[in-house]
Amino acid sequence: MRKKIVAGNWKMNTTVPEGKALAEAIAARVKEIPADVQLIVAPPFTHLVPVSEILCKTPVAVSAQDCADEPKGAFTGEVAASMIASVGCTYTILGHSERRQYYGETSQTLVKKMALALENGLKPIYCVGEMKDERVAGRHFEVVKAQIEEVLFGLSAEQMAKVVVAYEPVWAIGTGLTATAEQAQEIHAYIRGLLREKFGALAEEITILYGGSCKPSNAKELFACPDIDGGLIGGASLKADDFIAIAQAY
Ligand code: PEP
Repeated sequence: MRKKIVAGNWKMNTTVPEGKALAEAIAARVKEIPADVQLIVAPPFTHLVPVSEILCKTPVAVSAQDCADEPKGAFTGEVAASMIASVGCTYTILGHSERRQYYGETSQTLVKKMALALENGLKPIYCVGEMKDERVAGRHFEVVKAQIEEVLFGLSAEQMAKVVVAYEPVWAIGTGLTATAEQAQEIHAYIRGLLREKFGALAEEITILYGGSCKPSNAKELFACPDIDGGLIGGASLKADDFIAIAQAY
């Protein structure tokens, strides 16, 4: 049985008091979530300690949104995987399209981040997905294939078992456009097929999330697809009611 996950990426939103209030609102309603759905929140780095303190008595896990590609040292402004793990986080998002697009993150960098996250006991939520022009040109399979092969195919099976994959078509992120359930299922099945070629039966155990304008009104249809195991939620995760409603879509 694959783990079902609904993860909220808060991005660069909320002050610490606002983030604490959001975490408290989620904690207050966590009993309304089906027991087999793992909720995760990914607040900004500044919020990790207070949000972890609020959520540590609940089943909600806390994730970072990124980690450094070096273990420690003179890298001003960076936050190491070991530091993230030391405050009780159990996940980190890696390779989000905004990191790739705005901060020049490449597969080479992501290989290093992936290794450090895993070494420090963090479970990576590895994001892949094509840009709008790549989808229009029919290149979405080849783009996603490269992102998967270049970063995940160097992992051992033991490491891969700890990775969550998130398919996020860039044209659907924050735009209100959502991939149709058919489009999403098609590429999720493709990703699982790639993982099967490399890792065999382990592919059936890997959670693959959909991300891109997922909201309470479309979550049920997306989550009903056989290869969609939950969602990585941006905008809608900033409202506790919407985030809980998406998790209840299972
Ligand atoms: C995201 O950035 O991971 C995301 C899915 O954002 P949104 O839900 O706002 O499209």
